[in-house]
Amino acid sequence: MNRTPLDILRTVYGYESFQGRQGEVIDHLISGGDALLLAPTGGGKSLCYQIPALLRAGPGIVISPLIALMQDQVATLIQLGVKAAYLNSTLSSGEQRKIMTRLCGGELDLLYLAPERLMREDTLELLTGLKPAIIAIDEAHCVSQWGHDFRPEYLQLGILAERFPAVPRLACTATADARTRAEIVANLRLTAGRVFTTGFDRPNIRYLVTDKKGGTDQVLRFIRDHHPGQAGIVYCLSRKRVEKVAEKLRAAGHVALPYHAGLDKEIRTDHQQRFLNEDAVVMVATIAFGMGIDKPDVRFVAHLDIPSGLEAYYQETGRAGRDGLPATALLTYGLQDVVLRRRMLEASTADDLHKRAERRRLETMLAYCELVTCRRQTLLAHFGDTMPAPCGNCDVCLDPPTTHDATVPAQKLLSCVARTGQRFGAVYIIDILLGSEQERILRLGHNRLSTYGIGTELDRNGWRAVVRQLLARGILTTDAEGIGSLKLTAAAGGVLSGETPLELRKNPLRAPGGGRKRNRKSTAAALAVEDCAQVEPGAAARFERLRDLRRRLAAEAGVPPYVVFHDRTLTAMAALQPRTKGALLEISGVGEAKLERWGAAFLDALADDHRQDQV
Ligand code: ADP
Ligand code: ZN
Repeated sequence: MNRTPLDILRTVYGYESFQGRQGEVIDHLISGGDALLLAPTGGGKSLCYQIPALLRAGPGIVISPLIALMQDQVATLIQLGVKAAYLNSTLSSGEQRKIMTRLCGGELDLLYLAPERLMREDTLELLTGLKPAIIAIDEAHCVSQWGHDFRPEYLQLGILAERFPAVPRLACTATADARTRAEIVANLRLTAGRVFTTGFDRPNIRYLVTDKKGGTDQVLRFIRDHHPGQAGIVYCLSRKRVEKVAEKLRAAGHVALPYHAGLDKEIRTDHQQRFLNEDAVVMVATIAFGMGIDKPDVRFVAHLDIPSGLEAYYQETGRAGRDGLPATALLTYGLQDVVLRRRMLEASTADDLHKRAERRRLETMLAYCELVTCRRQTLLAHFGDTMPAPCGNCDVCLDPPTTHDATVPAQKLLSCVARTGQRFGAVYIIDILLGSEQERILRLGHNRLSTYGIGTELDRNGWRAVVRQLLARGILTTDAEGIGSLKLTAAAGGVLSGETPLELRKNPLRAPGGGRKRNRKSTAAALAVEDCAQVEPGAAARFERLRDLRRRLAAEAGVPPYVVFHDRTLTAMAALQPRTKGALLEISGVGEAKLERWGAAFLDALADDHRQDQV
């Protein structure tokens, strides 16, 4: 009997149904088509090439830029009973030969390779003879010369189209913008293929922004109240602060490790390994940490200093909650951050154009911090996704700030921008509104405008906040040339005519905690956890005991705990308490190989629990 993709999903992975566009992508590849798949982190991209590799003849070839990613994926696949291996420089030549032998003997379903290894003529020739089932190019945005992860070797991958015309190719990335997408299609010669996109929302991540106060105590309180005993990443701007925060966390009894470029390579590797292999390590790090970290159960990402822009922020916060369970992204920000960021930016050796772009990124970041509307809606809009309703899972939605009517100040500002020909930046416009007598204003005759000096109800900071709000809401924009002059958008008309009233934030940002209302819109998984803790108090204790068992089994097998089972699977076990292998197999994340290998141990543990409950 021929197996279908759904059979594989159920028996090998132990999942019930496809999510997002997985099913379509897999069908398209199996029938021989090429594709580009754009989906967020944790969106289940890897299954899209793994399942075709298992169903089509020949080995699946996966090109991955990072050794850590390859190792992690291969460890996961082996536990699922899939014949997978990787070839890279960490292996001895003996080990490499062994893998080659298995590959040539048709004993491998999936082989992970770095691009430079694949592009070697001997590798290409060998693979031509073997007729791969599929070629997957993971992290395909590395092909973009303008992106932050550019890998020159990726540019050569275009020739795979000629060398393997009959082999379906899939490029995957979580980077969404149109330019990167066009570059991927052109450079990898996927023009004949289909593009599959899914939304970039990460609904299980709760976005919180708060005023920075109380230094390290703030993050200590946050971890204690929201994520005790869980894994997380705390990002700081400087190495010195990383060391200090890690020390404070350790003094408070947490397992906290520092990570920054100033530490020896061995120490960094050791800390990274501990973060992956232990359950509750808090990594305190500069942005040097995180690339290639696939750990699914990072429960929080806290930024103690403001990130450089929304791209970096979204990427870094996206490392939380890959498993789909509830996670938090906390950002604490204060004016001193802004001053520091500005200083760093102006002192850098980058050229003017570059600096201007950086400045704009920072302003957008600031606007995000000061939002009075749903944070997720703004984040997604920034990446070209629209979200029709507020999310219900950010601090603004959970604890709406009070606002005041700022329609009149906004009208003054917009009309001043219009009257000066949309050629000037915020500082100059504010100068006019405040009635400054600076030479340029007098020279250009802007002191004769009807908007000259009409804005004394706000001070300079107040006006800047208005500008940021208007930018954040897309009522104002800055020019495409990057000079920084303010322009009106189509949305400005509504504000000027009074049709669109404008509310701005009045009270300062609040600390998280006020908004712990139960979130109605959270994912099914989130609800499952909350429900199981609410309905049945014993489940939480059972979960802890299962977690201990998992830790022991993982250590024996030499793999990270999440490779044995995800938290999500343990949560379901704790709630449903299966007694038989059949019942265990019903749980999401339990496939045949894992049932075989770990099933008995988990059933025993659950049976022990049951007996204890009876006593
Ligand atoms: P990506 O590569 O897009 O970041 P992954 O492929 O690592 O995402 O998948 C994220 C998580 O979701 C993994 O733990 C994976 O096993 C799980 N997953 C993928 N597809 C499904 C599905 N159809 N049902 C349930 N879980 C899934
Ligand atoms: Zn929201």
